[in-house]
Amino acid sequence: MGFSGFHGNAEVVHRLREMLARDRFPHAVIVAGPQGAGKYTLALMLARTMNCLTPRETDDLPDYCGVCENCRKIEEAADLEARCAEAVEAREGLRETDKRETRIFVQPHPDVLIIPPDPPQMMIKVDQVRHVNETIRYKPAEAKRRVFIFSDAAFMKEAANALLKVLEEPPEFATIFLLARNPGELLPTIRSRCVSFTLSALPLDQIDAYLAKHRPEWNARQRQLAARLSGGGIGRARSLDLEQYVASRKDALALLTTAIRAGEHSDLFRTTETYRGGGEGKEKTDQLLSAIYGLLKDLMALTSGAPELVRNTDITAELKSLSAGVDFSWIAAASQQLGQVQSGMRRNVLRPLSLDAFALSLER
Ligand SMILES: [Zn+2]
Repeated sequence: MGFSGFHGNAEVVHRLREMLARDRFPHAVIVAGPQGAGKYTLALMLARTMNCLTPRETDDLPDYCGVCENCRKIEEAADLEARCAEAVEAREGLRETDKRETRIFVQPHPDVLIIPPDPPQMMIKVDQVRHVNETIRYKPAEAKRRVFIFSDAAFMKEAANALLKVLEEPPEFATIFLLARNPGELLPTIRSRCVSFTLSALPLDQIDAYLAKHRPEWNARQRQLAARLSGGGIGRARSLDLEQYVASRKDALALLTTAIRAGEHSDLFRTTETYRGGGEGKEKTDQLLSAIYGLLKDLMALTSGAPELVRNTDITAELKSLSAGVDFSWIAAASQQLGQVQSGMRRNVLRPLSLDAFALSLER
């Protein structure tokens, strides 16, 4: 709990917390760094520290409790991908006219707003920034500071211009975080109005060393797999249920193999039969779909000549042989189909049948 749960980039974290301690935290902050470096995790930790109802100190610097009302609410946004998927799903259910006018936001707490890229373009749109501009001047309702987190630096042109206006004179009680894999994407005029911090991804060997200590039951091969799957995020690596993942991946491989090789179907049906609809089957199916997605990404890496990006390193040979049977357009079609199965699941219409249909529709 608290900043002790953040690994790597100790110096940057220290500087940010020092600014909090001196009450000199900037109103606009760019947190730059590669995927998995912890940009979002860190921003949420800072948001909790700013608004914790029973703040504490660790290492003589401000920290958050993690259990008060504000901390718990903000924590709900920790799984950003899941929260965004829910927001997108809710929008899908609206009438056509409302759908067009509804933008995606994640708001775990009345004073904390996360602005993610809006699908399908996956860019931050002008209406999202306008909403920030219209509401940023309201004083915090339940917290001390209002926090706005733009989770990506991909702004549409008009949105970037609107952001400039927001950054011109943010109110005293507001903090804006801009998270950027590549800050060069941001207008120079935006960058010049922000204070920038850069996080570096944790190297694989550092995650490996950490796992050797905290997951002593894993062997070197398992540690390497967990480190790769986590994308440099140490918290994710540590909490991974590897056994569960490998079981889901085995089924995912069976599905994809049937689709690619278009052979015997009895294997496929034996596998999908074990996936039930309803609540109990949902988690298992979620894990299966996410494993399929990961395998498709690896196949994409292999077909585009970037084997170093493969994450399921322990089954590279098997993936290589599968990748010989597919091309870019097949993988793209498979990803799209998978998206449809996933959205069907969120609407609760998944049955083992849709898994069969998924695999059969992709047969070559
Ligand atoms: Zn708290």
